[in-house]
Amino acid sequence: MSTPSPLPALKTSPKFIFFTDFDGTITQQDSNDFLVNTYGLGPTRRKELFQDVLFGRTSFRDAFKTMLDSVQLPLDQCISALLQNISLDEGFKEFYEWARANNVPVVVLSGGMEPLIRALLGHLLGVEEGRGLVIMSNGVKAREGMEVGEEGGWEIEYRDESAFGHDKSRQIRPYAELPDGKRPVLFYAGDGVSDLSAARETDLLFAKAGHDLVTYCQNEKVPFTTFQNFNEILETVKSIVSGETDVAEVMKNQI
Ligand SMILES: [Mg+2]
Repeated sequence: MSTPSPLPALKTSPKFIFFTDFDGTITQQDSNDFLVNTYGLGPTRRKELFQDVLFGRTSFRDAFKTMLDSVQLPLDQCISALLQNISLDEGFKEFYEWARANNVPVVVLSGGMEPLIRALLGHLLGVEEGRGLVIMSNGVKAREGMEVGEEGGWEIEYRDESAFGHDKSRQIRPYAELPDGKRPVLFYAGDGVSDLSAARETDLLFAKAGHDLVTYCQNEKVPFTTFQNFNEILETVKSIVSGETDVAEVMKNQI
């Protein structure tokens, strides 16, 4: 279950692959944070739990499960609430159109749950457009003896057995380990604690300004560049793909 189909993003022999987190990265708001804040244990406790993950006091797997278990709202009602409250990053649509036209596959690596991500992307991007995205995430399952449409009837189903629940490095590494000449340049964009497993794996890491991933990278001395939205990412990626600059040059200009 944790093994992806053999390198789906290599189908078109790309020279660049763009991996990205979903919540709070492609979207302006984090959909899981929204559910936990609104229907679950609330923002104060949620932030404490994420601080515990950030500073290594607990695992993402356990903290995130505790948060989601506190949300009793039936799954279909969670989805309708998200469709009304979550919006797309202002530059993502243009970025994605450019990426599709320039053979830069976009692979979504998420700690969130697939049915919620698919519903949101279909709504925000258009069902047809969203089909081109490879999505690797966690799932949802019914609690024993219950149905997902019931109050308290669903729970997260993790993708793997790791402390992350979904260890994003496992999706990236097979590409990173390709031999020279075959190995594309790898990008990653993320914002929070669900991205810790991916932070060290790519050639250029975009971390959302002012968010937890920046704190982590500073503490752990992981190189990164910040972004506010996908307009900025597009500008940087475009100039690398066109050969106008390269990853080393971009990193040199970091403070
Ligand atoms: Mg995120």
